[in-house]
Amino acid sequence: MAQAFFGGVHPNDMKAATNEKAIEQIKAPAQVVIPMSMHIGAPCKPIVAVGDKVTIGQKIGEPGGFVSAPIHASVSGTVKAVEPRPFSMGGTFMSVVIENDFQNTVCEDIKPVADPDSLTPEQLTEIVKNAGIVGQGGATFPTHVKISSGLGKVDYVLINAAECEPYITGDHRTCLERPEQVIKGAALLAKCFGVDKVYIGIEANKQNAADQLNKTIAELNAPVVVEVLHTRYPQGAEKQLVQAISGRQVPSGKLPADAGCCIFNLNTTCAIYRAVYEGMPVVSKIVTVSGSGVIEPKNLECPIGTPISCLFDECGGLKEETYKLIMGGPMMGLAQYSTEVSVGKGTGAMLAFAGDEEKYVAEPQCIRCGKCVGVCPIRLEPVFMYKYLMKGNWEAFRDQLHGMDCIECGACTYTCPARLPLTHAFRLGKQQVNNARMAAQAKAKAEAEAAAKKEA
Ligand code: SF4
Ligand code: SF4
Repeated sequence: MAQAFFGGVHPNDMKAATNEKAIEQIKAPAQVVIPMSMHIGAPCKPIVAVGDKVTIGQKIGEPGGFVSAPIHASVSGTVKAVEPRPFSMGGTFMSVVIENDFQNTVCEDIKPVADPDSLTPEQLTEIVKNAGIVGQGGATFPTHVKISSGLGKVDYVLINAAECEPYITGDHRTCLERPEQVIKGAALLAKCFGVDKVYIGIEANKQNAADQLNKTIAELNAPVVVEVLHTRYPQGAEKQLVQAISGRQVPSGKLPADAGCCIFNLNTTCAIYRAVYEGMPVVSKIVTVSGSGVIEPKNLECPIGTPISCLFDECGGLKEETYKLIMGGPMMGLAQYSTEVSVGKGTGAMLAFAGDEEKYVAEPQCIRCGKCVGVCPIRLEPVFMYKYLMKGNWEAFRDQLHGMDCIECGACTYTCPARLPLTHAFRLGKQQVNNARMAAQAKAKAEAEAAAKKEA
């Protein structure tokens, strides 16, 4: 088994509700609502208007810059609206609403690559870019940028199949049901980066998936190795995965590429396979719908833009006592306040809770037990980071305690017996630091412009 990383926690994985259930295709939704931002970077500009007919895979959103990714229609039908709609990151966001004609007409531009083995790294990068592929484990960083910035620098390519968040089993089922997509996608990446092997990291609680991948690797004689990892959260975090598989450490403030490593999520790898072997851009997503509030938890494959209410309907609905919805896993996911928000490229799970999972405490008091320090995989000191932030001292949070290195994994919050909202505070603290940096940059720019004007 691969090496371990420092810290981490062992939450009950709660995967039994869905890990033996095959992926089901959702009943096609009558409407999809596709937000023009499902990635890190500049949002897309809608290029369709109300009344336009669209087909599956047709581009409907033009990237807003290099760090961006195009957006495509996920159903065929008619554009009913181009307007702000409820958004999973909060508030509303410009979206394209398509009324489904249930004809499943595929765009005529969709064509597989004739000879995938002959693709150059530049050609593969262009295909990935045009297919709108982003980090589909939730990070949503445009994949073409990751590939192009890693070419020539990277000698370790890793596929993240750890799926360490509780409840989520979509990647596990993908390995069991679509191993060829995973392995052929990984082989494309091996060729692109010119490495002898690509490593797939998978936790030991998915041994049957590791076995299935190994069988497919042998059948295809592919340059891929499966590394079985300790089952420990956050095993799937980039820096922890790099350490566990390659033994390398990603320095503070740096990226895996600075340690010669490039990491792709398992879903992203399958999206690369589909873009090359089927010609299909990102138009669908596998979502685990689970939690104590869901009548019949399932793994569903649905068009991008499917309202989350349709996911719950497909699972028999929500229990009346449901009090909380989370998009993503329980450790890092985002609470949702409306079932009108829709599935995006990074949506891996939709959870609903109706039991006694909520451990909120009105006025939590630190008991100085030090447990949060022992579990932080980045070796930070959450107790002091929190203390300084509560005093409004974000400079100390940033400079003395290295708070900007926090990966917001939630391990400290999970382990804190006093129930302090540590991770939430760190998210806000990092935002404060970023706001201050941008304000300082804007001020410096304004001063430089004023000085230039004076001289002229
Ligand atoms: S949320 Fe941040 S501080 Fe807390 S354990 Fe994770 S990395 Fe450490
Ligand atoms: S785990 Fe919670 S109670 Fe213990 S030291 Fe950290 S913040 Fe304080």
